[in-house]
Amino acid sequence: MTEIPITLQSDENGYFDRECPNENCLYRFKIKLKDWEDKISDDEVHCPMCGHIDTSDKWWTQEQLEQIQEVVSSYALSYIQKELDKSWKKVAQSTRNNKFIKITYKPGKRINFINNPIGQSEEWAQEITCEHCGTQYSVIGSAYFCPCCGYNSASHAFEESLDSISKMLSSLPQMERMFSESYGDDKANTMCRGMLEGTLGDCMSAFQKFASCRYSEISGSVVRVNDFQIVKKGSDLFKAATGKGYDDWLSPDEIDDLNVLFQRRHLFEHNNGMVDQQYLDKTQDPEYVVGQRLIMREADTRDLIRLLKKLGQGILTLS
Ligand SMILES: [Zn+2]
Ligand SMILES: [Zn+2]
Repeated sequence: MTEIPITLQSDENGYFDRECPNENCLYRFKIKLKDWEDKISDDEVHCPMCGHIDTSDKWWTQEQLEQIQEVVSSYALSYIQKELDKSWKKVAQSTRNNKFIKITYKPGKRINFINNPIGQSEEWAQEITCEHCGTQYSVIGSAYFCPCCGYNSASHAFEESLDSISKMLSSLPQMERMFSESYGDDKANTMCRGMLEGTLGDCMSAFQKFASCRYSEISGSVVRVNDFQIVKKGSDLFKAATGKGYDDWLSPDEIDDLNVLFQRRHLFEHNNGMVDQQYLDKTQDPEYVVGQRLIMREADTRDLIRLLKKLGQGILTLS
């Protein structure tokens, strides 16, 4: 077996492109080339998105594979068998620790090498440093696992989601003006109200994901993500596992507000916002009677974001 030395080149921020080998995922991310070389183990690399674990030689992007193909072809074309045999020992020695590519050398095949540096795609948005192992990686959107140690950065994804929702709220008036020009005032208003109502659910999904990840990290057991849709149930789970529940971080009034907002989310998602008896039983909400439709205000989502952030900070202190 011989190894063809290939120069890996990072982008100007020092990152190197990778792609998840899981065919259902194929998620693209970047990792500091230095971390890839120094920290990543040969046996275990984690996909930041789906958590798939595979050996370090499986993470080539399509572009990199094409470039490698070219390198290998030119290597094969112009190296003369005799020369290769002569320099064999030297090549093998100089690339002994190269974990990036290994080519089986079959006597009789002509192999040569022109070193094409493997380039990278342009810089990505999110830079993340793993809280556990310090590996630096970069993703577009949200990611959940450190590629090096597999640490679940659910807290990062949670913060990101809440910030995006908050930005979306701020740009709603502007969106409504834009939609008005294209679709008229009525449609624009309906569309934006739909988006506003959807933000409660967006906050909820972000929180559920974060809370269930943290919970399984802390307790070692897995529960349904939906268990965190109910304030008391989620709080009880954490309390049973750590002795601390939501009331350690939120006041009784704040817990009531949280419960009302969670229940309103439920109504918007499952009952088109129409108030039913179940809602009133669960919230004691004095503002509505059965058959009315909930009125959604931007301030409600802002409240929910504030409460979830506070709660998230508390949950993060658990161990
Ligand atoms: Zn993946
Ligand atoms: Zn890590």
